Amino acid sequence: MRAFDFVVADSPAAARALLREVPGSRFYAGGTTLVDLMKADVERPGRVVDISRLPLTAIERSGEVVRIGALARNSDVAYDPLIATNFPVVAQALLSGASGQIRNSATIGGNLLQRTRCSYFRETRWRCNKREPGSGCDALEGFNRGHAVLGTSEACIATYPGDLAVALTALGAHVVVEGERGERTIALVDFYLLPGDRPEHETTLAYGELITAIELRVEPLHVRSHYLKVRDRASYEFALVSVACALRIDGGRIAAARLALGGVATVPWRAYAAEESLTGAEAGDAAYRVAAERALDGARTREHNAFKVELARRAIVRALRATAGSAA
Ligand code: SF4
Repeated sequence: MRAFDFVVADSPAAARALLREVPGSRFYAGGTTLVDLMKADVERPGRVVDISRLPLTAIERSGEVVRIGALARNSDVAYDPLIATNFPVVAQALLSGASGQIRNSATIGGNLLQRTRCSYFRETRWRCNKREPGSGCDALEGFNRGHAVLGTSEACIATYPGDLAVALTALGAHVVVEGERGERTIALVDFYLLPGDRPEHETTLAYGELITAIELRVEPLHVRSHYLKVRDRASYEFALVSVACALRIDGGRIAAARLALGGVATVPWRAYAAEESLTGAEAGDAAYRVAAERALDGARTREHNAFKVELARRAIVRALRATAGSAA
């Protein structure tokens, strides 16, 4: 690991100022992504700004909005009654990620910014446009079993690896950030960037902006929600496919639907066309299968990842069945 400067911030404003002093600096919260990547020589910050002591851990409800502080730990959020009761899909997504130890350390804000698990990105001897812009992508013709089939480009096919952001995307969450011009709120569907020809740009966050909270609306639709994660082993593994969904069913018909996919796309993937097909349909397998087809429209496969298309379709049907059967 390379030498770096380590400083501790005592306020969000101080954290941002400390970051700006040294170009390429990084915020450090739980450290579960950053430290790994520094050891692998993928991240090379000259300065690490410790924000872990900032007072951004509260989980509070104000009217119909629940605000989760960016430094709340994954495990604390998953087991918070406000979250588990109003947003089961969020609690389930969090508990499906990583290990107990990591969930006790990882923070909500950091979770949103975790980097891809593409092994060509994390190993510096390979060509990677995300790590070294313009260098090429060895995953395109390499072992791409875990790579994305939606939202890809000729420059990058890396999968967004997280679970939480998939659940939050389904529920239309917002990210609150603080920067030079004060606070702004970004819809999560607008937060992540498709790789296009600039895969090194992953979010709309400006350099020096700090995530301070996530906001979710309390709605009956969000109570009947579910997260299904399909992976190679039962724990401590990233998704091959994941499905986050929420349904409102009135008199046997689907009045409203939310669906997002993980493990198959370059960003947390909101399946709008599938949601549209579900809305107004009779709840049941026929509607779920149509939605599953719609959700994978436009999928582009590579040599080793074609299986993900059918796996995703089946996972969507299964997740919708489970959601329809869950308590309203
Ligand atoms: Fe890098 Fe993306 Fe290619 Fe992986 S898929 S090697 S992250 S450019």
